Amino acid sequence: MSGVFLTLNAGSSSIKFAVYDAHDPSPAPRLGGKIAGIGSAPVFAARDASGAAVDKGALAALDQDASHDALIALLLPWIAAHQNGAVPLAVGHRVVHGGQDFIAPTVVDEAILTRLETLNPLAPLHQPHNLGAIRAVANLYPDIPQIACFDTAFHHTQDRLAKLFALPRDLTDQGIIRYGFHGLSYDYIASTLPTHLPEARRVVVAHLGNGASMCAMRDGKSMATSMGFTALDGLMMGRRCGALDPGVILYLMQSEGMSPEAIKDLLYNQSGLYGVSQISNDMQILQDANTPEAEEAIALYCYRAAGVLAGLLPAIGGLDALVFTAGIGENAPLVRRKICEHLRWLGVAIDNAANAENATTISAPQSQVSVLVIPTNEEAVVANACRALVL
Ligand code: ADP
Repeated sequence: MSGVFLTLNAGSSSIKFAVYDAHDPSPAPRLGGKIAGIGSAPVFAARDASGAAVDKGALAALDQDASHDALIALLLPWIAAHQNGAVPLAVGHRVVHGGQDFIAPTVVDEAILTRLETLNPLAPLHQPHNLGAIRAVANLYPDIPQIACFDTAFHHTQDRLAKLFALPRDLTDQGIIRYGFHGLSYDYIASTLPTHLPEARRVVVAHLGNGASMCAMRDGKSMATSMGFTALDGLMMGRRCGALDPGVILYLMQSEGMSPEAIKDLLYNQSGLYGVSQISNDMQILQDANTPEAEEAIALYCYRAAGVLAGLLPAIGGLDALVFTAGIGENAPLVRRKICEHLRWLGVAIDNAANAENATTISAPQSQVSVLVIPTNEEAVVANACRALVL
């Protein structure tokens, strides 16, 4: 596989990969795919550069209980076999948390891995899997560079005020501050947006996937974001509640006797679209569900998204453009329309036909804010980091 970079994004229930030509900065991979459903019913799928499905080989039938490590040990030889047996020049990883020290892509060694592991409690759903993938690759390919690209890093440009909680100073000094996430996605949108809208200076990007956040950018730099110390804050998400009165947690502990583990499960797994609808965390399923609870879950999702957006605007002093991205942002016209309806007072108006088609520009001509739909590409950002550090 000489002459290529491999990107890996190992999440709690999926491992996504992409293979990029080292010397071609195009954002399109020559091969990409994922193992989804890890821990329940793992399924592998891959596509080549033309979008055609690629033969699954030994990955066609996966053991239901296969661990992330075991799956990576199957995946890497499969990828190599599809690149004439050669190993990549480097493997780039999405790593959710870089803490205060890691503000740029970093070549990982054992000492750095140990430091990154101390951040596991701050992103328990993602960080252990991200770092586990680095170890699994090191076991198979001990000599190739591995590069960690941090979701927190894009936000290091924020002013101190945007990062502070109103907590006693000693807690702030311990690093209990707002870090923000989804930075690779925001980085990609920030680098792409000028080709669509060169004049937009004050922009909010809404990354609406299973996890969801917003970032207020000025001149392509993060000024504020909705996720905070952990990826629980801000928007209502698939299974996470988003911003919550901390008094609710005290009440559940003190009056309901809930343990920290039970509260963690409530906040990360039982809430959000899933908790309110009592049906699913999947927006597509909820749109087709036709129950009052599903309708209310979607309505709450959109109402809260508009409120979170409004709360970010002091950091950028107004709004020239709103960009929707990620699974829901790119594919759910209903959600975009409902969010934009709550933002009419800001001069936001969308073109319903363009919105229904997921067109790139969905704002109406009279809108005072440009509204765009831009597919994100976190893998391309990781591949570019590999180019910058390895070539
Ligand atoms: P992840 O954060 O896991 O990468 P994605 O960015 O893939 O998630 O987003 C997943 C979400 O996107 C799910 O809620 C899914 O229902 C939603 N989604 C994908 N396609 C559509 C669609 N056509 N209509 C509505 N929602 C969609």
